[in-house]
Amino acid sequence: MARKKTKQISVGNVLIGGDAPVTVQSMTNTLPGDLKSTLEQIKELSVVGCDIVRVSFPTIESTSIIPDLKKESSIPIVADVHFNAKIALFAIEKGIDKLRINPGNIGKPEEVTQIAREASQKGIPIRVGVNSGSLPKDLEEKHKENIPMALKEGALRHIQILEDAGFSDIVIATKSSSVMETIEAYRLISDATDYPLHLGVTEAGTLFSGTIRSSVAMSILLNEGIGDTIRVSLSANPVEEIKVGIEILKSLGHRSGGVRVVACPTCARNEIDVQALAEELEKRVGFLKKDITIAVMGCVVNGPGEAKHADIGVTGGDGKGVLFRKGEKIRIVKECEILDAILEEIDNWE
Ligand code: SF4
Repeated sequence: MARKKTKQISVGNVLIGGDAPVTVQSMTNTLPGDLKSTLEQIKELSVVGCDIVRVSFPTIESTSIIPDLKKESSIPIVADVHFNAKIALFAIEKGIDKLRINPGNIGKPEEVTQIAREASQKGIPIRVGVNSGSLPKDLEEKHKENIPMALKEGALRHIQILEDAGFSDIVIATKSSSVMETIEAYRLISDATDYPLHLGVTEAGTLFSGTIRSSVAMSILLNEGIGDTIRVSLSANPVEEIKVGIEILKSLGHRSGGVRVVACPTCARNEIDVQALAEELEKRVGFLKKDITIAVMGCVVNGPGEAKHADIGVTGGDGKGVLFRKGEKIRIVKECEILDAILEEIDNWE
Protein backbone atom coordinates (compact mmCIF):
# COMPACT_ATOMS: atom_id res chain seq x y z
CA MET A 1 0.00 0.00 0.00
CA ALA A 2 1.30 3.51 -0.79
CA ARG A 3 2.71 5.41 2.13
CA LYS A 4 0.35 8.02 3.52
CA LYS A 5 1.60 11.53 2.75
CA THR A 6 1.94 13.33 6.05
CA LYS A 7 3.06 16.84 6.91
CA GLN A 8 6.84 17.09 6.78
CA ILE A 9 8.79 18.47 9.71
CA SER A 10 12.52 18.99 10.33
CA VAL A 11 14.41 17.70 13.34
CA GLY A 12 17.75 19.44 12.96
CA ASN A 13 18.91 18.27 9.54
CA VAL A 14 16.67 15.18 9.48
CA LEU A 15 13.22 15.22 7.87
CA ILE A 16 10.24 13.30 9.21
CA GLY A 17 7.08 12.77 7.18
CA GLY A 18 6.09 13.75 3.67
CA ASP A 19 8.29 11.92 1.20
CA ALA A 20 11.26 11.64 3.59
CA PRO A 21 12.55 8.11 4.20
CA VAL A 22 11.31 6.42 7.39
CA THR A 23 13.88 7.20 10.07
CA VAL A 24 15.09 5.10 13.02
CA GLN A 25 15.36 6.48 16.54
CA SER A 26 16.57 5.34 19.92
CA MET A 27 16.98 6.75 23.39
CA THR A 28 20.05 6.95 25.59
CA ASN A 29 19.96 5.25 29.00
CA THR A 30 22.94 6.95 30.61
CA LEU A 31 22.56 8.95 33.82
CA PRO A 32 20.95 12.41 33.48
CA GLY A 33 23.54 15.12 32.96
CA ASP A 34 26.37 12.63 32.31
CA LEU A 35 27.88 14.30 29.26
CA LYS A 36 30.72 11.85 28.62
CA SER A 37 28.69 8.63 28.77
CA THR A 38 25.77 10.13 26.90
CA LEU A 39 28.01 11.32 24.09
CA GLU A 40 29.72 7.94 23.91
CA GLN A 41 26.35 6.23 23.61
CA ILE A 42 25.14 8.69 20.98
CA LYS A 43 28.30 7.97 19.00
CA GLU A 44 27.71 4.21 19.24
CA LEU A 45 24.12 4.71 18.11
CA SER A 46 25.04 6.89 15.15
CA VAL A 47 27.70 4.40 14.00
CA VAL A 48 25.05 1.67 13.64
CA GLY A 49 22.66 3.99 11.77
CA CYS A 50 20.56 5.88 14.33
CA ASP A 51 18.98 8.94 12.66
CA ILE A 52 17.65 10.76 15.75
CA VAL A 53 18.37 10.20 19.44
CA ARG A 54 16.25 11.06 22.47
CA VAL A 55 17.71 11.99 25.84
CA SER A 56 15.79 12.38 29.12
CA PHE A 57 16.10 15.66 31.00
CA PRO A 58 14.44 15.17 34.38
CA THR A 59 15.81 18.37 35.96
CA ILE A 60 16.74 21.87 34.89
CA GLU A 61 20.38 21.18 35.83
CA SER A 62 20.49 18.19 33.50
CA THR A 63 19.81 20.47 30.50
CA SER A 64 23.18 22.15 31.01
CA ILE A 65 24.87 19.47 28.85
CA ILE A 66 22.69 20.22 25.80
CA PRO A 67 25.10 22.70 24.13
CA ASP A 68 28.01 20.25 24.43
CA LEU A 69 25.86 17.34 23.28
CA LYS A 70 24.80 19.38 20.27
CA LYS A 71 28.37 20.40 19.48
CA GLU A 72 29.65 16.81 19.46
CA SER A 73 26.67 14.81 18.21
CA SER A 74 26.38 14.04 14.51
CA ILE A 75 22.64 13.32 14.83
CA PRO A 76 19.76 15.49 16.09
CA ILE A 77 18.81 15.28 19.76
CA VAL A 78 15.30 15.17 21.20
CA ALA A 79 14.69 16.28 24.80
CA ASP A 80 12.30 14.04 26.70
CA VAL A 81 10.60 16.21 29.31
CA HIS A 82 7.71 15.50 31.67
CA PHE A 83 5.63 17.52 34.13
CA ASN A 84 7.85 20.61 34.15
CA ALA A 85 7.47 23.40 31.60
CA LYS A 86 10.63 25.14 32.83
CA ILE A 87 12.79 22.19 31.79
CA ALA A 88 11.25 22.28 28.31
CA LEU A 89 11.94 26.01 28.06
CA PHE A 90 15.55 25.54 29.18
CA ALA A 91 16.00 22.75 26.63
CA ILE A 92 14.72 25.04 23.87
CA GLU A 93 16.98 27.86 25.01
CA LYS A 94 20.01 25.55 25.01
CA GLY A 95 19.39 24.52 21.40
CA ILE A 96 17.68 21.13 21.50
CA ASP A 97 16.46 19.86 18.10
CA LYS A 98 13.06 18.55 19.17
CA LEU A 99 10.92 18.23 22.28
CA ARG A 100 8.99 15.21 23.45
CA ILE A 101 6.34 16.44 25.86
CA ASN A 102 2.72 15.86 26.65
CA PRO A 103 1.08 19.29 26.55
CA GLY A 104 -1.64 18.02 28.89
CA ASN A 105 0.73 17.34 31.76
CA ILE A 106 3.68 19.66 31.19
CA GLY A 107 2.20 22.66 32.96
CA LYS A 108 -0.47 25.37 32.97
CA PRO A 109 -2.05 26.43 29.63
CA GLU A 110 -0.02 29.65 29.57
CA GLU A 111 3.18 27.62 30.04
CA VAL A 112 2.24 25.36 27.11
CA THR A 113 1.61 28.48 25.03
CA GLN A 114 5.03 29.80 25.97
CA ILE A 115 6.72 26.48 25.05
CA ALA A 116 4.84 26.42 21.72
CA ARG A 117 5.79 30.04 20.97
CA GLU A 118 9.48 29.57 21.76
CA ALA A 119 9.69 26.22 19.96
CA SER A 120 8.03 27.80 16.94
CA GLN A 121 10.47 30.74 16.93
CA LYS A 122 13.42 28.34 16.92
CA GLY A 123 11.90 25.88 14.43
CA ILE A 124 11.80 23.09 17.01
CA PRO A 125 9.12 20.43 16.49
CA ILE A 126 7.25 18.76 19.34
CA ARG A 127 6.36 15.11 19.65
CA VAL A 128 3.17 14.32 21.47
CA GLY A 129 3.43 10.83 22.91
CA VAL A 130 0.44 9.03 24.39
CA ASN A 131 1.03 5.67 26.08
CA SER A 132 -1.47 3.07 27.28
CA GLY A 133 0.17 3.18 30.71
CA SER A 134 -0.36 6.91 31.25
CA LEU A 135 -3.77 7.65 29.76
CA PRO A 136 -5.82 10.41 31.37
CA LYS A 137 -8.30 8.94 33.89
CA ASP A 138 -11.40 10.21 32.08
CA LEU A 139 -10.36 8.62 28.78
CA GLU A 140 -9.52 5.37 30.52
CA GLU A 141 -13.03 5.40 32.05
CA LYS A 142 -14.75 6.41 28.83
CA HIS A 143 -12.98 3.80 26.68
CA LYS A 144 -12.46 0.98 29.17
CA GLU A 145 -12.94 -1.63 26.47
CA ASN A 146 -11.30 0.33 23.69
CA ILE A 147 -7.77 1.46 24.54
CA PRO A 148 -6.92 2.38 20.92
CA MET A 149 -9.78 4.88 20.94
CA ALA A 150 -8.54 6.30 24.25
CA LEU A 151 -5.03 6.64 22.79
CA LYS A 152 -6.39 8.41 19.75
CA GLU A 153 -8.50 10.80 21.79
CA GLY A 154 -5.60 11.44 24.15
CA ALA A 155 -3.35 12.36 21.24
CA LEU A 156 -6.00 14.59 19.67
CA ARG A 157 -6.43 16.36 22.99
CA HIS A 158 -2.70 17.15 23.18
CA ILE A 159 -2.66 18.21 19.53
CA GLN A 160 -5.58 20.58 20.16
CA ILE A 161 -3.69 22.25 22.99
CA LEU A 162 -0.70 22.88 20.71
CA GLU A 163 -2.85 24.00 17.79
CA ASP A 164 -4.71 26.40 20.09
CA ALA A 165 -1.29 27.85 20.89
CA GLY A 166 -0.69 28.29 17.15
CA PHE A 167 1.75 25.39 16.87
CA SER A 168 1.68 22.73 14.16
CA ASP A 169 5.18 21.21 13.82
CA ILE A 170 3.88 18.12 15.55
CA VAL A 171 4.80 14.42 15.51
CA ILE A 172 2.47 11.93 17.17
CA ALA A 173 2.88 8.60 18.92
CA THR A 174 0.06 6.42 20.28
CA LYS A 175 1.84 3.48 21.86
CA SER A 176 0.46 0.52 23.77
CA SER A 177 2.30 -2.45 25.24
CA SER A 178 -0.20 -4.60 23.34
CA VAL A 179 0.70 -5.14 19.71
CA MET A 180 -2.90 -5.25 18.49
CA GLU A 181 -3.87 -2.12 20.45
CA THR A 182 -0.85 -0.31 19.08
CA ILE A 183 -1.76 -1.22 15.50
CA GLU A 184 -5.37 -0.11 15.94
CA ALA A 185 -4.44 3.12 17.72
CA TYR A 186 -2.09 4.15 14.89
CA ARG A 187 -4.71 3.29 12.27
CA LEU A 188 -7.19 5.53 14.09
CA ILE A 189 -4.83 8.46 14.54
CA SER A 190 -3.59 8.13 10.96
CA ASP A 191 -7.20 8.47 9.76
CA ALA A 192 -7.75 11.45 12.05
CA THR A 193 -4.74 13.66 11.23
CA ASP A 194 -2.00 14.30 8.69
CA TYR A 195 0.74 14.86 11.24
CA PRO A 196 3.71 12.51 10.88
CA LEU A 197 3.63 9.41 13.08
CA HIS A 198 6.35 8.03 15.33
CA LEU A 199 5.71 4.28 15.56
CA GLY A 200 6.49 2.14 18.57
CA VAL A 201 5.21 -0.53 20.94
CA THR A 202 5.78 0.73 24.46
CA GLU A 203 7.41 -1.53 27.05
CA ALA A 204 7.87 -4.01 24.23
CA GLY A 205 10.13 -6.25 26.32
CA THR A 206 13.50 -7.91 26.05
CA LEU A 207 15.70 -8.20 22.99
CA PHE A 208 13.87 -11.41 22.05
CA SER A 209 10.22 -10.63 22.79
CA GLY A 210 10.47 -6.90 22.15
CA THR A 211 12.01 -7.47 18.74
CA ILE A 212 9.18 -9.77 17.74
CA ARG A 213 6.40 -7.55 19.10
CA SER A 214 7.84 -4.40 17.57
CA SER A 215 8.49 -6.12 14.25
CA VAL A 216 4.92 -7.43 14.05
CA ALA A 217 3.32 -4.07 14.89
CA MET A 218 5.58 -1.93 12.74
CA SER A 219 5.54 -4.28 9.77
CA ILE A 220 1.75 -4.30 9.63
CA LEU A 221 1.52 -0.53 10.00
CA LEU A 222 4.33 0.33 7.60
CA ASN A 223 2.90 -2.09 5.09
CA GLU A 224 -0.39 -0.19 5.31
CA GLY A 225 1.48 3.03 4.55
CA ILE A 226 1.36 4.25 8.15
CA GLY A 227 4.45 5.56 9.94
CA ASP A 228 7.20 8.10 9.32
CA THR A 229 9.76 7.32 12.01
CA ILE A 230 10.20 4.30 14.30
CA ARG A 231 11.61 3.40 17.66
CA VAL A 232 11.95 -0.21 18.73
CA SER A 233 11.78 -0.03 22.55
CA LEU A 234 13.85 -2.83 24.06
CA SER A 235 15.03 -3.71 27.55
CA ALA A 236 18.49 -4.01 26.05
CA ASN A 237 21.42 -1.93 24.86
CA PRO A 238 19.92 0.90 22.75
CA VAL A 239 22.27 -0.09 19.92
CA GLU A 240 20.11 -3.23 19.53
CA GLU A 241 17.05 -1.01 19.01
CA ILE A 242 18.70 0.58 15.99
CA LYS A 243 19.86 -2.72 14.55
CA VAL A 244 16.35 -4.17 14.84
CA GLY A 245 14.73 -0.99 13.48
CA ILE A 246 16.99 -0.91 10.44
CA GLU A 247 16.38 -4.60 9.76
CA ILE A 248 12.60 -4.01 9.90
CA LEU A 249 12.91 -1.18 7.37
CA LYS A 250 15.18 -3.23 5.12
CA SER A 251 12.81 -6.23 5.23
CA LEU A 252 9.93 -4.02 4.12
CA GLY A 253 11.89 -2.32 1.36
CA HIS A 254 12.04 1.04 3.14
CA ARG A 255 15.83 0.84 3.16
CA SER A 256 18.17 -0.71 0.72
CA GLY A 257 21.85 -1.33 0.71
CA GLY A 258 24.09 -2.14 3.60
CA VAL A 259 25.44 -5.50 4.63
CA ARG A 260 22.98 -8.41 4.71
CA VAL A 261 24.08 -11.62 6.36
CA VAL A 262 22.10 -14.70 5.37
CA ALA A 263 22.77 -17.97 7.13
CA CYS A 264 21.40 -21.49 6.96
CA PRO A 265 19.44 -22.72 10.00
CA THR A 266 21.90 -25.64 10.36
CA CYS A 267 21.02 -29.30 10.72
CA ALA A 268 22.79 -32.58 11.38
CA ARG A 269 24.91 -32.06 8.27
CA ASN A 270 26.38 -28.82 9.56
CA GLU A 271 30.18 -28.76 9.41
CA ILE A 272 31.11 -25.31 10.73
CA ASP A 273 29.83 -23.07 13.55
CA VAL A 274 27.34 -21.17 11.37
CA GLN A 275 25.62 -19.42 14.26
CA ALA A 276 28.79 -17.99 15.81
CA LEU A 277 30.13 -16.92 12.44
CA ALA A 278 26.90 -15.24 11.29
CA GLU A 279 26.48 -13.46 14.64
CA GLU A 280 30.06 -12.22 14.63
CA LEU A 281 29.72 -10.95 11.07
CA GLU A 282 26.51 -9.08 11.91
CA LYS A 283 28.23 -7.54 14.90
CA ARG A 284 31.40 -6.53 13.03
CA VAL A 285 30.05 -5.42 9.65
CA GLY A 286 26.24 -5.31 9.88
CA PHE A 287 26.26 -1.50 10.08
CA LEU A 288 28.57 -0.86 7.08
CA LYS A 289 27.11 1.10 4.19
CA LYS A 290 28.62 -1.26 1.58
CA ASP A 291 25.89 -3.06 -0.35
CA ILE A 292 26.92 -6.70 0.16
CA THR A 293 25.10 -9.97 0.82
CA ILE A 294 27.17 -12.52 2.73
CA ALA A 295 26.01 -16.14 2.92
CA VAL A 296 27.15 -18.46 5.71
CA MET A 297 26.19 -22.04 4.93
CA GLY A 298 26.88 -25.13 6.99
CA CYS A 299 27.51 -27.83 4.39
CA VAL A 300 27.71 -28.74 0.75
CA VAL A 301 24.04 -29.77 0.30
CA ASN A 302 22.54 -26.30 -0.26
CA GLY A 303 25.61 -24.35 0.69
CA PRO A 304 27.45 -23.87 -2.59
CA GLY A 305 24.30 -22.80 -4.44
CA GLU A 306 23.34 -20.20 -1.84
CA ALA A 307 26.94 -19.06 -1.31
CA LYS A 308 27.32 -18.59 -5.06
CA HIS A 309 24.26 -16.35 -5.24
CA ALA A 310 25.57 -14.08 -2.51
CA ASP A 311 28.30 -11.50 -3.09
CA ILE A 312 30.56 -13.26 -0.61
CA GLY A 313 29.79 -16.76 0.61
CA VAL A 314 31.23 -19.56 2.64
CA THR A 315 30.27 -23.21 2.77
CA GLY A 316 31.42 -25.51 5.55
CA GLY A 317 33.07 -28.82 4.82
CA ASP A 318 35.22 -31.07 6.99
CA GLY A 319 36.64 -28.38 9.29
CA LYS A 320 37.23 -26.02 6.40
CA GLY A 321 35.41 -23.22 4.62
CA VAL A 322 35.05 -22.85 0.88
CA LEU A 323 34.93 -19.16 0.01
CA PHE A 324 32.98 -17.71 -2.90
CA ARG A 325 33.10 -14.21 -4.34
CA LYS A 326 30.64 -13.04 -6.98
CA GLY A 327 29.67 -16.66 -7.61
CA GLU A 328 33.21 -17.93 -8.10
CA LYS A 329 35.02 -20.28 -5.74
CA ILE A 330 38.12 -18.35 -4.68
CA ARG A 331 39.82 -20.33 -1.92
CA ILE A 332 39.57 -22.87 0.89
CA VAL A 333 40.56 -21.86 4.44
CA LYS A 334 40.65 -23.57 7.84
CA GLU A 335 37.51 -23.05 9.94
CA CYS A 336 39.41 -20.80 12.36
CA GLU A 337 40.38 -18.53 9.45
CA ILE A 338 36.93 -18.14 7.86
CA LEU A 339 35.95 -14.97 9.74
CA ASP A 340 39.18 -13.14 8.86
CA ALA A 341 38.96 -14.32 5.27
CA ILE A 342 35.42 -12.94 4.89
CA LEU A 343 36.38 -9.67 6.61
CA GLU A 344 39.28 -9.34 4.19
CA GLU A 345 36.95 -9.86 1.21
CA ILE A 346 34.58 -7.21 2.61
CA ASP A 347 37.50 -4.79 3.08
CA ASN A 348 38.45 -5.27 -0.55
CA TRP A 349 34.88 -5.02 -1.81
CA GLU A 350 34.38 -2.02 -4.10
FE1 SF4 B 1 21.82 -28.29 6.89
FE2 SF4 B 1 23.68 -27.87 5.05
FE3 SF4 B 1 21.22 -26.87 4.69
FE4 SF4 B 1 22.80 -25.81 6.54
S1 SF4 B 1 23.18 -25.84 4.32
S2 SF4 B 1 20.67 -26.40 6.80
S3 SF4 B 1 23.90 -27.59 7.27
S4 SF4 B 1 21.77 -29.02 4.75
